[in-house]
Amino acid sequence: MKRQICDIGRRMWQRSYVDGNGGNLAVRVAPNLVLCTPTMVSKGFMEPSDLCLVDLDGRQLAGTGRRTSEILMHLGILKRQPRAQATVHGHPPYGTAFGIAGLLPPTGLVSEYELFVSAVIAPYHTPGTSELGDEVASLAQGHNTILMANHGVVSWSQNHLEDAYFKLEIFEACCQTYLIAIQLNRELSLISGGHLQQLLELRRRFGVPDPRMISEV
Ligand SMILES: [Zn+2]
Repeated sequence: MKRQICDIGRRMWQRSYVDGNGGNLAVRVAPNLVLCTPTMVSKGFMEPSDLCLVDLDGRQLAGTGRRTSEILMHLGILKRQPRAQATVHGHPPYGTAFGIAGLLPPTGLVSEYELFVSAVIAPYHTPGTSELGDEVASLAQGHNTILMANHGVVSWSQNHLEDAYFKLEIFEACCQTYLIAIQLNRELSLISGGHLQQLLELRRRFGVPDPRMISEV
């Protein structure tokens, strides 16, 4: 698991989803135990020995480095969503730009996004604070991707770490694709209502949370 966290961190850095020491990852390894990334380390160059073990209140139990200062945001999700297995946070440029503008990419345009991502915007709170942790935790009910205004993106998965990373990657790809599409100066074609319903049905089968199907989350 530690190696997988390092691998996903490298993929995030290679795709410019993390800058400086930014971004962090967390994986539930027991009901009340979470493996997470350390603070002040590039996510592209972590070693398994850098990782930290914390409880759900953020108390560090093992690891030589200090746990990420943003752990409360991850723990907020992992506490409120007992089925959440992993959380991934980064500052991907296109998604973060949407967050600065206070926008989400429109729905009904990209099938992959409709299938796997349920996104919402969180108002700005200082990174690392319990206010941000509480805000994100409440929005994680019904959404697997939270765009934090003036900050970045956090995604979670009930399956595994790579799946949480996929949400972030699909979200970022949709933001980038939409920005390119509107520069083509043509009317954008929407996925039709019937086809959209098919995607929503597949999404329900994949267990993707959706506020339009809140009772099934
Ligand atoms: Zn951050």
